[in-house]
Amino acid sequence: MSFEKCVRCGSCLKICPIFDAVGEEQYSPRGKTYVLQVMDLIEEDEELGKEFRRLLFQCTMCGRCKEICSSDVDLLEVWHDSRGRALKEAPKEFGYLDSLRDALANVQNIYGLDPEDRAIYWLDELRDIIPGIEDHVYEEGKTADVVVFLGCLMSFRYSQMDVLRSFFKSLERAEIDYLVMGSQEFCCGHPLHLMGDEEGADVLRKHNKKVIESTGADYVVTCCPGCLIQLSMHHSLEGVEALHHTQFFDRQYDSLPKYESEEDFAYHDPCELHRICDVKTEPRSLLAKMNVSYKEMELSCCGGGGLLRMTDPDLSDKIIRLRAASEHLRKYTVITACPSCREQLLGNNLETVDIVELMDAALEEGR
Ligand code: SF4
Ligand code: SF4
Repeated sequence: MSFEKCVRCGSCLKICPIFDAVGEEQYSPRGKTYVLQVMDLIEEDEELGKEFRRLLFQCTMCGRCKEICSSDVDLLEVWHDSRGRALKEAPKEFGYLDSLRDALANVQNIYGLDPEDRAIYWLDELRDIIPGIEDHVYEEGKTADVVVFLGCLMSFRYSQMDVLRSFFKSLERAEIDYLVMGSQEFCCGHPLHLMGDEEGADVLRKHNKKVIESTGADYVVTCCPGCLIQLSMHHSLEGVEALHHTQFFDRQYDSLPKYESEEDFAYHDPCELHRICDVKTEPRSLLAKMNVSYKEMELSCCGGGGLLRMTDPDLSDKIIRLRAASEHLRKYTVITACPSCREQLLGNNLETVDIVELMDAALEEGR
């Protein structure tokens, strides 16, 4: 295993948002890899084992440690594998994940809601501005160039409605032939992937793959970087390219009207988009095409990933509050491109906007 290569240089301590917020070695990537290296010696100690399993879920899975590690320890793989093993070894210690796992097994969404409701709330909201939008909901036999994969957050959370509105208006304006999966969209499997449960995630992925490929689409487009990880790296899609909405629209438009605003903006790279999917240029390219000036935020983490909001919401909030203070975020509107980052920012009373909202406004204004 690659954790054996850790030479305890300490580089990862300087960038880990968890270590930054807690300040204790055992919470750091170096501390955790050390425990893995001496696991044989402490295996008999039940309390230590229990504490280590708890600490494994005190991590946002932001990937900063993997990026900086000079010994090439694939830390994200280490965390995934170790979480999966911990969950199998001691499922009772993770009772707080049971309702999420049951919901995903029974109704295939993280909220435990009726699968038929996936295309109800936002459809009702958008019907007036996009007449006939219900015709874009998938049914067996329908085909399209583009499948839209909304993901659980965007399907069910009203806090995402402004982004959804702008996203669908942008598809319509560009005359894209698209289908939304509706009740046939299952969770992409990302939450299970984050707990190391690949078997559970595969059940969901197989269904999505079948539906997406049946439409004959060239692209599946999502606004959610977590869904993008799953669609582009774990669904084994054949003949269908998975794209983030910033990638899709950056390809659509060589130029865009100027976005006129007096607001001060800061751009936050979602960890999963920037670090794991390597989508760095397209969001900036869209902002440049709209002539939006913004402050580059540190390439750090919002604190909302890796299931930390379930495991330890106080720690998750502490991470974004520390950032808000050190980067003076209350003076800015934070531009981002991830529904999960959006929830984290809004939940901590920070102003935020998705790139597609700016793009929609610029195109509306420039008509
Ligand atoms: S950066 Fe890599 S080698 Fe250095 S302490 Fe962290 S895990 Fe170990
Ligand atoms: S993935 Fe992020 S939060 Fe987790 S150990 Fe690495 S740097 Fe820390």
